[in-house]
Amino acid sequence: MTTSKVVLVTGASSGIGAAVVRRLAADGHHVVAAARRKDRLDALAASVSPSGRVDVVGLDVTDRGAVGAVVDGIVERYGRLDVLVANAGVMLLSRLDALLVEEWDRMLDVNVRGLLNGIAAALPVFREQGAGHLVGVASVGAHEVVATSAVYSGTKFATWAITEGLRQEADPGIRVTTISPGVVESELAEHITDPEAREAMRTYRAASIQPQAIAAAIAFAIDQPDDVDVNEIIVRPTRQRP
Ligand code: NDP
Repeated sequence: MTTSKVVLVTGASSGIGAAVVRRLAADGHHVVAAARRKDRLDALAASVSPSGRVDVVGLDVTDRGAVGAVVDGIVERYGRLDVLVANAGVMLLSRLDALLVEEWDRMLDVNVRGLLNGIAAALPVFREQGAGHLVGVASVGAHEVVATSAVYSGTKFATWAITEGLRQEADPGIRVTTISPGVVESELAEHITDPEAREAMRTYRAASIQPQAIAAAIAFAIDQPDDVDVNEIIVRPTRQRP
């Protein structure tokens, strides 16, 4: 039987994050859903049954102080934070010679600094509790680079390195899981501005799986006994190569 946990999910307003919120709430966990689009979070919470399992909070993960305040607020209200699912991310693909330098910065800010801000906020709480679980959302892009993915893959290689480093350093009792999804239906590719990368993604992303598949993998990792740490899961569509 699942023990009810207090879980913070970032990037919860769409795609994988929203599916994780639904799945964990259905499994009996108490979920705090965070993202910038609060209206989307409100609609998500209202559609989750049973009601009351999901709190929502507007949060930009690039704001270190705001991430700390959300974690402090959860501990104040519930007495603990058991799991942080650091899922917020952006994928603004382009070739390096397109020089979309502001998009490079945004990917670094959200995908890398956002994760670090989450760790900075949650790790002291986990240490104090003697227990806690960081779930980092990387990508198959953490394992390979293709043209147009240099910076995005760089941020996901960094995600992998940071979560693996945390796993090696963490006190006994703290679990760390890295989830690397393949192509999953979501809004991720809709924000790409580079025409060549957008076109390439149309073909690449044609065979996708539903975000519920990633939510199921995360639920599996969370629901293991305390002495079992699922270190990494890669979930691709069966048809996906590479
Ligand atoms: P979506 O675009 O559907 O979701 C991204 C989420 O991140 C949204 O909820 C968005 O919310 C949030 N987000 C973006 N910027 C910020 C920010 N500054 N602060 C807080 N939240 C932010 O894409 P996915 O669900 O696919 O992406 C989720 C994760 O999965 C990402 O880390 C992505 O890299 C990873 N991934 C996805 C794959 C896929 O094929 N879908 C494959 C491999 C990895 P809001 O805009 O409201 O803030």
